[in-house]
Amino acid sequence: MSSKDNSVFALVDCNNFYASCEKLFRPDLAKVPVVVLSNNDGCVVARSKEAKQLGIKMGVPVFQVQALMRQHGVRAFSSNYALYADMSQRVMSTLEAMAPKVEVYSIDEAFLDLAGLQPLRNLTAFGLEIRQRIQQWQGITVCVGIAPSKTLAKLANHAAKTWHKTGGVVDLTDRSRQRKLLALLPVNEVWGIGGKLSKRLQQLGIDTALQLADANPNYIRQHFSVVVERTVRELNGESCMVLEDIASTKKQIISSRSFGQRITDKHQMCEAISEYISRACNKLRHEQQQAKHLTVFMRTSPFSDKDPPYSASKSVALDTPASDTRLFLAKAMQLLDVLWVNGHRYAKAGVMLTDFYDPGVVQPDLFCEQANVAEQPGRAQADQKLMQLIDKLNAKQSKTIWFASQGGKQEWSMKRDMLSPAYTTNWGELPAVK
Ligand SMILES: [Mg+2]
Repeated sequence: MSSKDNSVFALVDCNNFYASCEKLFRPDLAKVPVVVLSNNDGCVVARSKEAKQLGIKMGVPVFQVQALMRQHGVRAFSSNYALYADMSQRVMSTLEAMAPKVEVYSIDEAFLDLAGLQPLRNLTAFGLEIRQRIQQWQGITVCVGIAPSKTLAKLANHAAKTWHKTGGVVDLTDRSRQRKLLALLPVNEVWGIGGKLSKRLQQLGIDTALQLADANPNYIRQHFSVVVERTVRELNGESCMVLEDIASTKKQIISSRSFGQRITDKHQMCEAISEYISRACNKLRHEQQQAKHLTVFMRTSPFSDKDPPYSASKSVALDTPASDTRLFLAKAMQLLDVLWVNGHRYAKAGVMLTDFYDPGVVQPDLFCEQANVAEQPGRAQADQKLMQLIDKLNAKQSKTIWFASQGGKQEWSMKRDMLSPAYTTNWGELPAVK
């Protein structure tokens, strides 16, 4: 468990992200209630502010609210994953240019590490600047929560969204403000405390976030888990969460990282993208989901004035939802060919899987490429078994089996700023005698 003194995090979260993306290019819908529907247009997965005010609930089947929607002229859109993924990349690269350390948590949320900023800048003013810039550059409204731990930053963000008077930015670095807010929030609003957990906590008389913060961490560890104990510490301003502690939101899987060193070679980029695909698909299978949309993105550093800026993303849809690493690898390599431009020094790349389905829900299309499966009985099961076997072997010891395109050495992943020249093995790095 690591704890950093003076840690400060900002959680930046886009408001009504999918619905906001739809409104962006339709100024005529500025004041119109808008909903976005799940795949096959079955359920509501995003709502604009106006749609929320009508009482349309998240996840509700469309047929249940059809009358209401007609009555109030609600506009519905099918999910446009390519648009959302691209807008997400634009928002994230704006954030990356404002803070040196950005962790993309979901398609519309990112944590910024603001440690050390405070003596230089007022945190609320900085939050407002983030908000203003994304509004101006991407046309998307965000809320910003600032606090000494990620769990508190999440709650600060919740407060910024809930209470208009905050202006969309809440700085929760002050201890007494933390306690005031925690007292107002039910325990199930706390990050990672789901329905089941909050029921068990309530049986112990813990109803509010503040009561959880004041619980004895050792008692909580014994009766719940180390993760809940960390939550208690985080609620007290002690930073000890790494992102992996929190289950993904299941709306999308993002695998991305800044490279240890710049990539200038397409072969290395291919390795990096393959590595991210492999991790994302492993996670997808772990969550027993299938995905249909893949986005690949890559960009140069926003901080270097030497490098001309380049940032691009591209999406593609599979014929049918899948979780097979090989299918996504093949598509990713096609996207890489489109996105790759020689001459750039790439600082970051990543992949995002969206448009999730439960396995077995979708009938394969007999005429699509992937439906070769239909001609070869047993093929689908064999493919599934292969992936399960790979996951099983890699779970025991990571990278027991990997795809050739991932590369064995992955030199791009290592930070080697301090590396001395290859005096003896590279003509270009021979020691110079003056
Ligand atoms: Mg959001």
